[in-house]
Amino acid sequence: VHEELRQKERLAIIGQMATAIGHEIRNPIASLKGFIQLQKEQYPNTNDYYSIMIQEVDRIDSIIDDLLYIGKPRVIQFNKGNIKEIIDYTISLVKQQDEENRIVFKTKIEDTIPEIDCVEKRLKQVLINLIKNAIEAMPQGGKITISAGILDRTKVWLSIEDEGVGIKEEYMSNISVPFFTTKKDGTGLGLMVTEQIIKAHNGEIRFESTQGKGTKVMITLPLLQNGTI
Ligand code: ADP
Ligand code: MG
Repeated sequence: VHEELRQKERLAIIGQMATAIGHEIRNPIASLKGFIQLQKEQYPNTNDYYSIMIQEVDRIDSIIDDLLYIGKPRVIQFNKGNIKEIIDYTISLVKQQDEENRIVFKTKIEDTIPEIDCVEKRLKQVLINLIKNAIEAMPQGGKITISAGILDRTKVWLSIEDEGVGIKEEYMSNISVPFFTTKKDGTGLGLMVTEQIIKAHNGEIRFESTQGKGTKVMITLPLLQNGTI
């Protein structure tokens, strides 16, 4: 309990710093991206450097998204969101960043899923973080399967499955700890933020992984946030 409290205090301080820094960085990043895009349009046939610059700027932007979430007060306004649209949108977004088309996406989404109470922007952030992890686990490329459906008439389930390197047994309990990363240039923030967002939606998330075979992330979310059905 003591350790948990210390962890909370640490996160609160990190959150305040992250918010301050994140907002300061966001504006120059946006103008940087704008000018790169302009250059790209003016000199369309030079080389791919502009696309790479834009990609990298987008990467900074999504790291800032994670940072800003740590500092967010947890008052949430839920709206109706469509899971299939959220999944399709996210896939099209990450596909743009997979220019060599190394990744094959497969979706199996039941078409009877009603709209759910959620913060769409946050669920997109969850999917982006999870799909990015899946991609990073498959440096040679591979298949990512995203499935979704209805559970017990009150919940929606969704899963993201990759054929990547998998997670070492001894790391399983650490993967969501802030700043835990096994990557050369990882932030170790993605899964922490992901878990917090799922929790804020009163949902659940769990990981199954076999080293050398791949990882499956399972999420369940309530359809309604006030329990009435
Ligand atoms: P980061 O991606 O910046 O390392 P995350 O919080 O997203 O931070 O992930 C933490 C760690 O969990 C990763 O460094 C990796 O070791 C492990 N991990 C997460 N998702 C996967 C996956 N799909 N396959 C293999 N390892 C994963
Ligand atoms: Mg990550």
